Amino acid sequence: MEGNLFNCQIKNPRILITGGAGFIGSALIRNLLINTSCYIFNLDKISYASDLTSIEETLKKLGQKNSSRYKLLKVNLLNSNDTYSAIKFANPDYVLHLAAESHVDRSIEGPKVFIESNILGTFNLLESVRKYYSNCDPRKKEYFRFLHISTDEVFGSLGSEGNFNELSRYDPRSPYSASKAASDHIVNAWYHTFGLPILITNCSNNYGPWQHAEKLIPKIIINALNKCKIPIYGNGENIRDWLYVDDHISGILKVLNEGEIGEKYCIGGNQEKTNNEVVNSILAILDREVPQNYSYKELITYVNDRLGHDKRYAIDSSKIRSQLNWKPKYSLKKGLICTVKWYVENFRRKI
Ligand code: NAD
Repeated sequence: MEGNLFNCQIKNPRILITGGAGFIGSALIRNLLINTSCYIFNLDKISYASDLTSIEETLKKLGQKNSSRYKLLKVNLLNSNDTYSAIKFANPDYVLHLAAESHVDRSIEGPKVFIESNILGTFNLLESVRKYYSNCDPRKKEYFRFLHISTDEVFGSLGSEGNFNELSRYDPRSPYSASKAASDHIVNAWYHTFGLPILITNCSNNYGPWQHAEKLIPKIIINALNKCKIPIYGNGENIRDWLYVDDHISGILKVLNEGEIGEKYCIGGNQEKTNNEVVNSILAILDREVPQNYSYKELITYVNDRLGHDKRYAIDSSKIRSQLNWKPKYSLKKGLICTVKWYVENFRRKI
């Protein structure tokens, strides 16, 4: 990554990342540890979804001199005192907010924790950051940014035509997407009402190494490797746009560095596929990589559709592409090969 990653003219910026023990947050932290000299504060409550292994392994590889560049702050955003103390301690130049309950199926089984973490947690964080920001010196106020990471699911479901973009109407359908939509609105309000320098990104489905086994792509790979049935919701014709996690990270950093305060950016991989297509591609890779005397495709089983299952998501990323000169590097084909190979080598760690 480029040397001039951050525009604030500070030699070693201090970055507070919430949810840094999760799938995308830990990929972001690994990237920043390897490619920059910034200081990273990982605020995370540490839940079932957290895994610090990849960060610890990266720190080990980088050696002792880098260990002071990373600190875990085990804090639940629902505790406003702890949240404010963590922010004061970190004294950040940037805040990247990724902490959230993120699994749609869990939000259907138990929505309360989603409302708490994603809405109240975001509110507490914003209030703490607002207090912190109001005490920052004028120079820091110039470059300080709060970047909220959100999802395209806030826009609801598409028919067979059209794409979501920054102007799409909010129309969330699941408790997860409704809680994320609420958090987007709250973040936006803190910009308009209090002048907090925020940015928002809405991205499509991420995948890649180190994702939790409950999510679609790891679940397919792990079930196949364990010779278990591979469940597909409904008829498998639901369509998603897939974004390789490293491409999402490069988009986040672009927006943080060059995005306009108060603006929103949609980030997508431009890789729309039905769930059937994704599952079949993964199983074809596994048939080549770990051949059996049967095809993994024989393990596919169709199960009752998810309640309120959105039919199609697709993202129009032309704003970030044209204004910030960002584009994804991974086709779904290339990203799936990397991901499947990683799980084949590491899947015992993620089950
Ligand atoms: P994840 O579930 O893997 O990780 C989330 C992390 O947030 C966990 O470590 C968890 O402990 C932490 N967390 C949750 N509630 C918290 C709280 N109250 N206080 C402190 N920490 C808390 O999620 P992910 O897939 O890495 O997603 C990160 C962000 O990106 C989320 O905001 C999610 O909505 C968004 N997003 C994800 C995807 C995707 O495909 N994974 C797509 C679009 C947007």
